[in-house]
Amino acid sequence: PATASKSLPKLQDKLLGGLLSAAFEESSCQSRYKSSLYRKKSPFPLSPYLVRKLRKYEAYHKKCGPGTKRYRKAIEQLKAGRNADNAECKYVVWFPCNGLGNRMLTIASTFLYALLSNRVLLMHVAAEQEGLFCEPFPGSSWVLPGDFPHNNPQGLHIGAPESYVNMLKNNVVRNDDPGSVPASSLPPYVYLHVEQFRLKLSDNIFCDEDQLILNKFNWMILKSDSYFAPALFMTPMYEKELENMFPQKESVFHHLGRYLFHPTNKVWGIVSRYYEAYLARVDEKIGFQIRIFPEKPIKFENMYDQLTRCIREQRLLPELGTAEPANTTAEAGKVKAVLIASLYSGYYEKIRGMYYENPTKTGEIVAVYQPSHEEQQQYTSNEHNQKALAEIYLLSYCDKIAMSAWSTFGYVAYSFAGVKPWILLRPDWDKERSEVACIRSTSVEPCLHSPPILSCRAKREVDVATVKPYVRHCEDVGFGLKLF
Ligand code: GDP
Repeated sequence: PATASKSLPKLQDKLLGGLLSAAFEESSCQSRYKSSLYRKKSPFPLSPYLVRKLRKYEAYHKKCGPGTKRYRKAIEQLKAGRNADNAECKYVVWFPCNGLGNRMLTIASTFLYALLSNRVLLMHVAAEQEGLFCEPFPGSSWVLPGDFPHNNPQGLHIGAPESYVNMLKNNVVRNDDPGSVPASSLPPYVYLHVEQFRLKLSDNIFCDEDQLILNKFNWMILKSDSYFAPALFMTPMYEKELENMFPQKESVFHHLGRYLFHPTNKVWGIVSRYYEAYLARVDEKIGFQIRIFPEKPIKFENMYDQLTRCIREQRLLPELGTAEPANTTAEAGKVKAVLIASLYSGYYEKIRGMYYENPTKTGEIVAVYQPSHEEQQQYTSNEHNQKALAEIYLLSYCDKIAMSAWSTFGYVAYSFAGVKPWILLRPDWDKERSEVACIRSTSVEPCLHSPPILSCRAKREVDVATVKPYVRHCEDVGFGLKLF
C-alpha cells in the first residue's frame, strides 16, 4: 500500500539510514530521533556492511551483556582467576580518563575495537558521567555492573603488572608465536593502557602479533586518553574489515559517534530548549569554541585578536560598517547566529558588543549567544558535564565552526556535524601569539594527538602519514594523525 512505501523512507531517515536500531522505545530517549532534525543530512553515505555489523553487535551484546547467564558465567571465571578456552563471550571494560570530549573519543575508539575483536563493550560509569547518555544497545546495558571485581581506577596505570606491555616484559605472556598459546594458560584479564607517553601512544600494541594474543583474553580492561581509532587502521589484520565498514575513512567518528551518543531526556531538554529559543529560526549558525588549556595559557587579548583575525580572514561573519547601509542588499535582514562555547564570558561580551554598537555593511543581523560560562573545568561535577554535553551538541548544529586547536571537545562537535572546522592554531611553545590565525581542517575526523610507532617488531620509527594513504598529520598537532 501507498502509505507503507511512504513511511518506510521516513522511518529510514529517522534512524539515519539504518545507523540506529529500530528496537527502541522512542520516548525513552528523544534525542536519538530528534537531534538529527537540527542538522543537515550527513554528507557521508553509510556502508550497508557497517549497518549489518552494528545489528550483529547488538544481538551479541544482548546475548552476553549484564544480567545474562553468560555474563554471570564470565564473571565467575574472572573471579576464579581463570581464562577459559573457547569462551562464548568476551568483554572490554572501558575506564574514564580526562574530560567529556576525551571520554567520548575513547569510548568510540573502544567500541570500534570491540567491533573488530568481537568483544562486548562495558563502561565504568563514574558519578559525574551518570545520566548523560542513553543506552545505545537495545534490550541490554553498557553500564558495568557494580559487582565487577576489578573496579578500582587507581590500579590502572602504566606500571600496573596486569598491563599487557608489562606482562610481555615480565614474561607472563609471549607474543612471538601467538598460535601456540592456549587461552587457558593466560591470566584472567589483561589491562590495555593506551595513553600518550612522550608524545607517542604508549608502547605499540597495534600489531598483529599483539592483537592475536590480546584476543585470547576473555576480559580486557582498557583506559585511554587518546582517540586511538586511527591506530586500529594501522593493524594489518583489521585493515580489510575497516575498509568494508568505512569506505570513507573520514566518517569513522561521525558515524560511530552518532550511533553511540544520545543525550538523555534531561540533557536533551537543555539542548532543545536552547536550540528552539535562539537557533531554530536563524539563517545561518556559526559556532566558536574557545578553549584555553592550563598547560598553554594564552592571554585574553591575544586569543580575542586571533579569533577576530580568523573571522575577518575567513569571512565568517559580516563586516562592520560605519553607517546603516543605504542600499538594501540580498543579505539585508538575514540573521546569523553566533554560538560561543567557552568557560569564560569575555569573548561573547566583546563580539556581542561589536555587533550591538555597529551596523554590518550588508544589513545582516548578527545575534550572539553563549549558553554558559563555567569559569573552571570540573571533571567530577555531574551538572557541569551535562552543560558540557549540551554545548557539544549545540555546537554540532552549526553550519560553520571555528575551534581551538587541540580540543577534543571541539573535535567531537565538528565530527558530529560533519563539518570541516577552522582551527585556531596554538602559538609555538616559545611564542604568545600565533602568526596564522586559523586554518581549515581537511577532514571531519578527530586528531590522534600521539601516534603509535608503526613498525611493530622493528622498533624503528616510521612516519605513518608517509606510508598510509588515508592518514595525514593534523593541522593543529603537527605530529598527530588523522584519517581523511
Ligand atoms: P579538551 O580538554 O578541550 O580536550 O576537552 P574535554 O571535554 O576532554 O575536557 C574539557 C572539559 O572542560 C569539558 O568536558 C567541560 O567539562 C569543560 N569545558 C571546556 N570548555 C567548555 C565549554 O565551552 N563549555 C562547557 N560547558 N564546558 C567546557
